Amino acid sequence: MILLRTIAETREAIAAARERDLTIGLVPTMGALHEGHGALLRQAREETGYVIATIFVNPTQFDRPDDFQKYPRDLESDLALCERWGVDVVFAPDAEEMHPSGAPVTSVDVSGVGSRLEGEFRPGHFRGVATVVAKLFNIVSADRAYFGEKDAQQLAVIRRMAADLNFPVTVVPVPTVREPDGLAMSSRNQRLTPEQRRIAPVLYQALCEAEGLCETGRMTRGGSRSAAVVKQGALALLARTPEIRVEYLEVVDPATFQPVDTVTSDVRIAAAAWLGDVRLIDNLLVSVKLGR
Ligand code: AMP
Repeated sequence: MILLRTIAETREAIAAARERDLTIGLVPTMGALHEGHGALLRQAREETGYVIATIFVNPTQFDRPDDFQKYPRDLESDLALCERWGVDVVFAPDAEEMHPSGAPVTSVDVSGVGSRLEGEFRPGHFRGVATVVAKLFNIVSADRAYFGEKDAQQLAVIRRMAADLNFPVTVVPVPTVREPDGLAMSSRNQRLTPEQRRIAPVLYQALCEAEGLCETGRMTRGGSRSAAVVKQGALALLARTPEIRVEYLEVVDPATFQPVDTVTSDVRIAAAAWLGDVRLIDNLLVSVKLGR
């Protein structure tokens, strides 16, 4: 495995892999790697001939300076994990390498799918994400790029961007990896106190409650389930834990992330909540079969 710090060296490595007829798999990350990232990298290892992990804590996608400052960073441990997961190249540029002229003035905005939920509560977040991923797609020119369903709205934003701008890459979704108690793995979980960590799985429990209500909740006259009732049930469960401050919990269309009023087909239930100064997000795709 090699560690590269510059765009030029990374392009050379990719060109050499192409010479060897290898397919290229890209996994963009912000480091502080855990088994969630491991799932993406392992899948890339299985499906492509040359795996490149990028590690870049992208300043332009943080809406709060303190979140950027406190974001966990541990390159040494990340490199050991990448080695274990069979990565070929780690591209870990510094901010100067990625943005030599300061903050970029050119940006990618994915409206619609990126405008609500995370887009609403973290202004500028998806612009930062889409712009840096567009840069990485241009630097790495991968055949397949892997993104986690943990950040389902981000995945939808990237898919839409890749389609709209004709990036010649297949965007591959990878299911969320969870701790045994259900908490979705996240680099930010490191910042939870032991007490907060004990409480944190309640967010997943609320999503499971909502999932159950999609299946069994009261039918409307039209034969579908009310999204408001599903939402109320999940929020009632969260209200029992005063330490949790819910930012949003919504029942949305899985492709567009627009809210639905009635659950007539598959939906995604997405939520964001604060525990102290740590912001947790999670979501579940709910397959709905009505008429049972
Ligand atoms: P991050 O380092 O948080 O920017 O995440 C890098 C990639 O890993 C993104 O595509 C995330 O969606 C994905 N990821 C993060 N946590 C998980 C998880 N628990 N399960 C699956 N994918 C994840």
